[in-house]
Amino acid sequence: PKLPAGLRVALVGTGPSGGYALRTLLDRTEAQVTVIDKLPTPGGLVRAGVAPDHPGTKGVLRGFDLLYRDPRVTMLTNVTVGDGPDQITPAELSDHFDAVFYAVGASESRRLDIPGEELPGSTSATDLVAWYNGVPGVEQGPPLRRGTTEDPATGRAVVVGTGNVALDVARILVSPPELLATTDIADRALNILREQNVHEVVLLGRRDQAAAAYTAAEYRALSEIPGVEVEVIDGVDGVDIPSSFRGPADPARRRIVFLFHSTPEEIVGDGQVESITVRTGEGRHHIATDLVVRSIGYRSTPIPGVAFDDDRGIFRNVDGRLTDDSGQIVPGGYVLGWAKRGPSGGIGVNKVCATRTVEDFIDDARSGVLRRTRRAPDAFSSLVRKRVRTVIGYRGMRAIDRTERRRGEEQGRPRVKFTQVAEMVGAAGW
Ligand code: NAP
Repeated sequence: PKLPAGLRVALVGTGPSGGYALRTLLDRTEAQVTVIDKLPTPGGLVRAGVAPDHPGTKGVLRGFDLLYRDPRVTMLTNVTVGDGPDQITPAELSDHFDAVFYAVGASESRRLDIPGEELPGSTSATDLVAWYNGVPGVEQGPPLRRGTTEDPATGRAVVVGTGNVALDVARILVSPPELLATTDIADRALNILREQNVHEVVLLGRRDQAAAAYTAAEYRALSEIPGVEVEVIDGVDGVDIPSSFRGPADPARRRIVFLFHSTPEEIVGDGQVESITVRTGEGRHHIATDLVVRSIGYRSTPIPGVAFDDDRGIFRNVDGRLTDDSGQIVPGGYVLGWAKRGPSGGIGVNKVCATRTVEDFIDDARSGVLRRTRRAPDAFSSLVRKRVRTVIGYRGMRAIDRTERRRGEEQGRPRVKFTQVAEMVGAAGW
């Protein structure tokens, strides 16, 4: 059977899975698509998460931008879906659209649940990455210990985990700041990294190197950072853990050290991180450090009104079809990407994931299981404009983009990002 005419779809989130879902929706259906994002700027994890020294990866946004210009697409950014007074609820979305796709990613970090995790100087990769990528609302970087003459800073950071995010964080922390200065890294981060001069990053893997979570390409790329050595210590029984870990790192060299078979037990410090206690094999070791970054995976942020699996940190779904808490499919409700499967797989994996769920939606539309909306086509835009003070559409998004690029050109960088929503709203012409 043919697809019903005049389908109206809402898509929440403009990260990789949202972008690829939009492409499939436009290619494979005649639907009108309203795209919503909580930030004024689109891109989700591509803007907020991809490392500043990986500009090539961000090229995918150019393709998404072409989709946003399609006459069948309405962009509404700076609009949050939730239950707050100036937010749009999931029930309102279901009421105004024939189908709603949630492509909201996984923006919260998992926890280690060890003592000392709350100490200043202990942070999540989520917060650290958002800080150096200029994400609004993360103005404060980690309070790195500056040290004193009697008790100098160690110049060492410890990253828990060996996934690609851990490698991103390690590269950014240890890279010579002059290399980062040509990227779109937030100035707030660059300034502190210059001052702090982290020159040793220790990554902790709880299993052996063969079980490390990074991909081979990202691992190899570490040895291409100018002036940075990479070392691997397999912390099995009998292997010496360098005693140098107990004191400040050698300021004469920059290095990344993988310490495998190592499980963090406690983060120690008097009001501020000073060291981390690690069990390697049968032994316990103390590594002096100013900063501990846990990079052990993400969780989605729940949205009131959409059933959530708290154990897995994802929205309840059966292969991308949303369910309620009792497991019943919610007609016309879909979830994509990390919010559907959990935080694994790069951009390519999310493309496949999003495309597949849009195909399932097409099957559902053909078989008549969608509940068609009775609302007038422009009712949703009116609701949003009444509820949200500063809605930004495609033109506003473009204006922000142009201004950021122009600021970048003046400094020989791809862009200088706005780091506050109010600045973005201003640049969008409000
Ligand atoms: P990840 O690849 O799942 O790595 C998570 C790491 O945390 C693993 O090393 C894991 O070790 C460790 N871990 C989990 N719980 C732990 C605990 N309680 N104590 C100690 N270690 C623990 O996750 P990710 O690095 O956040 O990356 C997410 C996805 O994005 C991945 O698919 C990644 O490839 C992709 N990505 C790709 C790029 C790229 O440049 N291509 C960049 C960034 C991210 P175990 O294996 O022992 O559980």
